Amino acid sequence: MNRQFQSAIANATPDGDGATRELRLAIAGMTCASCSASVERALRRVPGVRDATVNLVESSAFVRIDARSATREPEVIGAIESAGYRATVRGMTAGTEPTDSSLGELRTARANFLLALALSTPWILQMIGMAWGQHISLVWPLEAALALLVLSWPGRAFFVSAWRALRGGRSNMDTLVALGATSAFGYSFAIAANWLPGVGAAHAANYYFESAVFLVLFIALGKWLEHVARGRARAALLTLLDLSPRRARRLTNGIEQLIDARDILVGDRVVVLPGERLPADGVVRKGNTEIDESLLTGEALPVAKAEWDSVCGGTLNTHGRIEIEVTANGSATALAQIVQLVRDAQAHSAPIQRVADRLSAYFVPAVIALAALTLASWLLAGAGLAAALGFAISVVVIACPCALGLATPTAILVGSGMALRHGILIKNGAALELLGRTQLLLLDKTGTITAGKFELVRIDVRNAASTEGAHTERRVLEVAAALERGSNHPLALAIVAAHAAREFDVLTIDAMHEREGLGIEGVVAGTPVCAGRRGFLERAGIVIDIDDARDGGDAAVTAVYVAIGGRHAGTIWLRDRVRPEAERIVRDFRAAGVDIALVTGDRREVGEHVARVVGIDRVHADVLPREKLRIVEEARGAGRIVTMVGDGINDAPALAAAHTGVAMGGGADAAKETGDIVLMRASLSSLREAWLLSRATLRRIRLNLGWALVYNLLGIPIAAGALSGLGIVLRPEFAALAMALSSVSVVASSLALRWNERRIFTAR
Ligand code: ADP
Ligand code: MG
Repeated sequence: MNRQFQSAIANATPDGDGATRELRLAIAGMTCASCSASVERALRRVPGVRDATVNLVESSAFVRIDARSATREPEVIGAIESAGYRATVRGMTAGTEPTDSSLGELRTARANFLLALALSTPWILQMIGMAWGQHISLVWPLEAALALLVLSWPGRAFFVSAWRALRGGRSNMDTLVALGATSAFGYSFAIAANWLPGVGAAHAANYYFESAVFLVLFIALGKWLEHVARGRARAALLTLLDLSPRRARRLTNGIEQLIDARDILVGDRVVVLPGERLPADGVVRKGNTEIDESLLTGEALPVAKAEWDSVCGGTLNTHGRIEIEVTANGSATALAQIVQLVRDAQAHSAPIQRVADRLSAYFVPAVIALAALTLASWLLAGAGLAAALGFAISVVVIACPCALGLATPTAILVGSGMALRHGILIKNGAALELLGRTQLLLLDKTGTITAGKFELVRIDVRNAASTEGAHTERRVLEVAAALERGSNHPLALAIVAAHAAREFDVLTIDAMHEREGLGIEGVVAGTPVCAGRRGFLERAGIVIDIDDARDGGDAAVTAVYVAIGGRHAGTIWLRDRVRPEAERIVRDFRAAGVDIALVTGDRREVGEHVARVVGIDRVHADVLPREKLRIVEEARGAGRIVTMVGDGINDAPALAAAHTGVAMGGGADAAKETGDIVLMRASLSSLREAWLLSRATLRRIRLNLGWALVYNLLGIPIAAGALSGLGIVLRPEFAALAMALSSVSVVASSLALRWNERRIFTAR
């Protein structure tokens, strides 16, 4: 179990060859997609940086640096700072740390809002008074002083960030806010101080300090709410980590000692009582029990554990007292790494996200141009400077594409968190998006449509009639088992088990080599031997003169041909069983218009038999691993969105080549490393759940993007005064409120994805 997850994780650091160094950074000050895009651009421009991914929702970046380059952390951080943001190194170990920094950001955002609220009291009173028919007049120097205080205290962050960006020759969302607030304040001050006597008298009706103040107030409110909502979305993942107990019982020289779970070291003996969760990953060294691993696998049935079995931190010990030897602690546990993996996978690589990023990079300059155009048009149309400037400021403020930037990452965050709770590990945000758009679903047979649990049917011995040159069943099985002991293939496991049950001799093998998807060859006591599929033996010049279709009898049995000393010695027939849920899942996919084909390295009769049982009409049988890859590539070449589901090493190339590679949890490590999605429950129901989830997430992303776009597209003309003829005018401060609410509504909409949870995950 443990190894299964660890191997799924290995892919998180794709360059294990040491060619790159990895750097994880916490980044402060990013508010929008255009921020994350400019951080990413800045990072990519640093010499030696091979790849950089910025996660807006997590406020983090993941950078891979060429190991040979002289670039070090300060240069990378410097690049981010000159782009107008702050960065700190998070290191590879800090699995849970960002909560602290985001908690800090949340507190700052709330403090800023409350401060801005307090400082805007006079204007709020004035508005309340107005509603009651009372006119409360404020003296302008007081207004100016308070407004300046608001801009420079709670509003300071916008100006600092805008200034940094400006110095770097860039612009960001804060540029818009700062520009809007400065213009409103500057204009009001000039009028009130009577510097522009030609434009308007220094009369309260002609200036609007409150626009600048409320703009900061509402943006601060929006940021605060956004932090709250983002924190909520993130919490879905982090609650998984919270399940790890805080304390542990360490056993030292037979004495139990209650310690802080963070102080556990690898190699420690730890006691876990019934009903307690495990504080770390380890191996059971004493006692036996059943462990509820639903946290990791989504599978509710507890799993029996005895001595030497691996166990994972965070899982629940149901009834026995056990002692475990710790093999991984803290952020190295399978659970912590899975959570980290999912966090890294979120958002950025989703193709739909890149569109939003590209849009928002051009957004700020375009918006400023649009605002200038608004100003000029109104002036030309003969409006006063006050009104014209008001419209221009509203345009600047409402056009902020924050909602656009949050639309995709928040939905994927919520979606992958939901998946993880049900034993579906999503290692790549793009995969979550593409799975739902699958047009061709390729299913491997052994271990995917079937359970991969073979049973031996019988052993045929070649030349059984003549004693000359014939081997016994026993000999065939002994040789096959000697070979297969080195393999993890489902056929190998069955052959080894069948051999063990018979208490035959255990032969020692001198050399052994597995040919993926073909079979195994080796040397036993000086004699070359091999076992595998027909083509594998025939290519080695071994003659197999039996007819599978006739001698296999039942179409459902798989053959393993065994050769000893270069001659076919016998055939082992094994039967697998089709997963009970397979037929229904196939039916559901077909009903949704998805094409399905079965691909298998097994012989045609078996492939077609299984396909018939589950209702698939296209079969690619007797294929080699590279042919599986070719099938995927051809379908992609024909413009189809391909999902490949498999469990074996032989499926790995095809999994990697498909738009979405889905690995079965029980299968080979290579498959789980290459797959974009790992079904930890090893059930096809999980495939359907992942697919439904992907479709729901995709719908939510589209809804979010559409909403954000419509909001901006409708908001801009209204802000520009297009409807002023109808008496509809959006003052700058309300433009700010509208903008803030659009971000909040997008995040809330992503959170609403959870309403689908019951529908998706209970229909098993
Ligand atoms: P599938 O594509 O259905 O998952 P594989 O590609 O894993 O099947 O295997 C294809 C065929 O290759 C098997 O049916 C078997 O005949 C042979 N084969 C593969 N690996 C082994 C092995 N370790 N021992 C014996 N035969 C093997
Ligand atoms: Mg397989």
